[in-house]
Amino acid sequence: MVSQAATRTRHVRDDGRGVRRRIREIGRRLTDLYGAPERERYAPLDELILSILSQNTSDANRDVAYARLRERFPTWEAVRTAPRRELEAAIRPAGLWRQKARVVRDILNTLHAEHGSLTLDHLAAMRDADALRYLTGFRGVGIKTAACVLCFSLGRPYMPVDTHVHRLARRLGLIPPDAEAEDAHEILNSVVPPAERFAFHIQLIRHGRQVCRARKPRCDECVVSDLCPKVGVAKGRRS
Ligand code: SF4
Repeated sequence: MVSQAATRTRHVRDDGRGVRRRIREIGRRLTDLYGAPERERYAPLDELILSILSQNTSDANRDVAYARLRERFPTWEAVRTAPRRELEAAIRPAGLWRQKARVVRDILNTLHAEHGSLTLDHLAAMRDADALRYLTGFRGVGIKTAACVLCFSLGRPYMPVDTHVHRLARRLGLIPPDAEAEDAHEILNSVVPPAERFAFHIQLIRHGRQVCRARKPRCDECVVSDLCPKVGVAKGRRS
């Protein structure tokens, strides 16, 4: 049975709008504007926990929470065995601290029980689809969080779709306007060339923060406005 996202992917491919050509051009212009992104690599387990802390908060809050966590508990074993309230207090700046502490602890306990060690280095031997399935098998780990581990830590050509990427991809007509985040992952990872996925992800986030903001996109300053079907999108209106 052909999935809804696969049907939409075919639609995007066949719609004659030259989606791949536009992606290349958008990526080129955003790289001219913002510079080529650099990839900072963490170990897979570090990246997973960093990504969990980043859910529903800013990068700044995530970084404060992660730094406090590593400072108070220098090893993942210390995190696994820490008193619950101390763990929650350490990651409080990231918000949703009770929920995130539970998710982190569950992952560490599962790894300890299954492998006797706290590492996700075994992901390196897995194919992308298997690694995604494995990671999303943990409670509290969705496709975006799993994709961050593949892309940033393992260097795989897999593009995470966060709120900025999702919004820009919709506005720029790279995905159907009603595509949900999960469909957006499937579609974008089939139409963005593998070698460009990491950079395209970063550039869309940069552009989403600085110009194509959710509530007040600055279309008059946008370097890709001539490629955007949503240019001039109404101020104050989400789309
Ligand atoms: S033209 Fe406007 S809506 Fe389109 S990408 Fe640029 S800022 Fe966003």
